[in-house]
Amino acid sequence: MQCPICRSKQTGKVGADQYFCWSCFVEFNTRGQGEVYEISEDGSLLALNDYAEDLDKAGR
Ligand SMILES: [Zn+2]
Repeated sequence: MQCPICRSKQTGKVGADQYFCWSCFVEFNTRGQGEVYEISEDGSLLALNDYAEDLDKAGR
């Protein structure tokens, strides 16, 4: 599975439809809108979807 943020393929499955990117250390899922999360220091997940959209626009 390719990371939607950095396009790396160094990702690992962490749950149903849920993947972790070893390159930029985010979690993302492949269902629906493809939500992306950053893992904060306390272990909670922060949604990064706005960031992903910005990158997407910049890359085109
Ligand atoms: Zn990545």
